[in-house]
Amino acid sequence: MPEPAAAKILVADDDQSLVRTLTWILKENGYDVVTAPGGEGLIGKLEEERPNLLLLDIMMPKVDGLQLLAKMKADDRFRDVPVLMISSMPPEEATVKSLGLGAADFIPKPFRVRELLARVKAHIRSAQELAHARDEAQSRAAIVDILHEVTDSLKPDEIYHILVRRVARVLQISKCSMVLAKPGDQLGVVVAAYENPMLRNLQIELVRYPEIQRALTTSRSVLVEDVATDPLYQEERVRWQREQITVPTRSAVALPFSMKDQQLGVFFLRTTGEDPPLTRADAQFAETVIRTAVAAIEKAYDFETAVSDKKRLEKLAATDALTGCLNRRALSEELEAELDRARRYNLALTILLADIDRFKLVNDTRGHIAGDSVLRQVGEILRREARSVDLVARYGGEEFVVVMPETALHGSAIFAERLRRRVMHHDFADPGEDPLNLTISIGLASFPDDRVTSADSFVALADQALYRAKNEGRNLVRQ
Ligand code: GH3
Ligand code: MG
Ligand code: MG
Repeated sequence: MPEPAAAKILVADDDQSLVRTLTWILKENGYDVVTAPGGEGLIGKLEEERPNLLLLDIMMPKVDGLQLLAKMKADDRFRDVPVLMISSMPPEEATVKSLGLGAADFIPKPFRVRELLARVKAHIRSAQELAHARDEAQSRAAIVDILHEVTDSLKPDEIYHILVRRVARVLQISKCSMVLAKPGDQLGVVVAAYENPMLRNLQIELVRYPEIQRALTTSRSVLVEDVATDPLYQEERVRWQREQITVPTRSAVALPFSMKDQQLGVFFLRTTGEDPPLTRADAQFAETVIRTAVAAIEKAYDFETAVSDKKRLEKLAATDALTGCLNRRALSEELEAELDRARRYNLALTILLADIDRFKLVNDTRGHIAGDSVLRQVGEILRREARSVDLVARYGGEEFVVVMPETALHGSAIFAERLRRRVMHHDFADPGEDPLNLTISIGLASFPDDRVTSADSFVALADQALYRAKNEGRNLVRQ
């Protein structure tokens, strides 16, 4: 049976009679055939015709088939087009070379027609499957991105799981895990495994996984087609025999991945006895899928850093640099929000405005630096004495506001009195200097109150009480 949708084959050979014969045979079997005589202008022809398969002669008088092959495989546009190399050369050297360069197969001249057709058919089919799976992988990668943008709650852990699941499904490999490790590490950590979704941070001894170790040290993917014969597994096989272990694994691929130029670990794909062994094509494809996947994680990480940076900046913008308390702007916002809450849920809300008594004197007698240190210490005392739900802000030069949610006047008066005493008994002097004692005056205001309509009017009310405290002799609490 020929391929249904007339797959297109490009034949590049300098032997014109062979080209004619091939064209005839392939057309007879339902293929669409185009030719590039002598291999000249091959890349242009690939671009123009977009063939499903290329039959390429290794030895042509004007161009080197192997060089063309290498050029083609280095080009993202044509990398997936399967290439069958044709040559009259004895197979050994040319075969090894062309397969190493990424050729799909090697057909020695003269060829048997039936065999040629069988191989052409097989390679076209697997290329189509590859393309299909790759499309699927890309669309899934896009889904993860979208998912992340809409939920913004995916943690790296969850992304790891999505990735192993996706890679496993797209590649139809039942065992796929992600192992974090650096070159030379003795232990690796399995952070996600498709075959065991519940698994979290399992430590493994890397000496048992020679392909992982090699992938880590070489930064290249390592394919073990068969653990029963691969030299890499020589020592492990001896151990298996000694310890009478039967290992279900047949083949394995370890694909290193890095993020932000930092080697992070490997994707580890395995097949068991019943599955077909993994091939170089599988490994190559897995690499493509994983590259997309890693890009998705990188994006997620960027996103996380962006979020935490934003939070950090917001916090910085809300903080007074000298005292570490909220600044005045942040206070207005927070107080407005607290007022809203108090109104909506019918809760009490009290604020306290504290002003250092005769603070100008400190600056005048001890200097500004000492004055700053006093402000810092007052901020510390306020924050230490306040509850965790209270907000402490520096309102002005030497004035502080404490916002006390769900607190009525009586409770806050007790708190204010305690503060007043703490400050009065505190020595604000730097070590080795003469003691420095200070007092504060405090004004209180409480919601609900008809005069409180906004954050500003709320503070103004507390300021009136503070004025009374100052007027009546300082070191006092008034409401
Ligand atoms: P009282 O409140 O008891 O009436 O007297 P006071 O001396 O504290 O009065 P006033 O509020 O007029 O003075 C506050 C002083 O605080 C004026 C200013 O020099 C000083 N000040 C304001 N901000 C800072 C600051 O960041 N660092 C220092 N060292 N001093 C500051
Ligand atoms: Mg003052
Ligand atoms: Mg003042």
